[in-house]
Amino acid sequence: MLRIGLTGGIGSGKSTVSRMLAARGAVIVDADLIAREVVAPGTPGLAAVVEAFGPQVRAADGSLDRPALATVVFSDPEARRRLDGIVHPLVRHRTAELVAQAPADAVVVNDVPLLVETDQASSYDLVLVVEADQETRVTRLVQRGLHEEDARARIAAQATDEQRRAVADVVLDNSGTPEELAEQVDRFWAEQVGSRPD
Ligand code: ATP
Repeated sequence: MLRIGLTGGIGSGKSTVSRMLAARGAVIVDADLIAREVVAPGTPGLAAVVEAFGPQVRAADGSLDRPALATVVFSDPEARRRLDGIVHPLVRHRTAELVAQAPADAVVVNDVPLLVETDQASSYDLVLVVEADQETRVTRLVQRGLHEEDARARIAAQATDEQRRAVADVVLDNSGTPEELAEQVDRFWAEQVGSRPD
């Protein structure tokens, strides 16, 4: 098994790269998806979050009220730590389950937006970073429906390109067209994945 950690700032193209790698045969493990799954309605994860933060973080339909929870933890580092203490172990456990289900010779790509912020680079055989210049990311995020100020604030709250590059084995530049990105993914696959010894 080859374990690849895929990361990049918001709107850099992680999901796009994930899809390209999946098309080449990789098994994708999506950290954002898992983080939602472990607090889905009816889960012990949601029950634990409601117990810690009160019924106001549960929406009328029984799902987690993310804006309400965000308001609680936004300006309270201790609350943030408590939330992370509930969610992170559940995410780790579910991630390990999914990785264990992959075939022994699989190429497993973990899409982890906050890989650098949460200091996880050493968990992977290879760290793949996708980058796009900031204005391109803002334009793409706005096209996806985010307000420009929100896009800029979120970019500013994350690790910098330099911090991500410091842990990268390979950097993909997604400032150009999807075709240009696909060429880089092909090169990465040929040089770092396809040629690895079994
Ligand atoms: P997030 O951090 O929000 O999960 P992400 O890093 O997964 O984002 P994507 O969702 O892959 O990034 O890309 C962000 C947006 O930019 C999407 O709407 C996607 O379709 C678009 N996009 C990605 N790459 C390109 C490209 N090379 N040219 C044009 N649009 C692109």
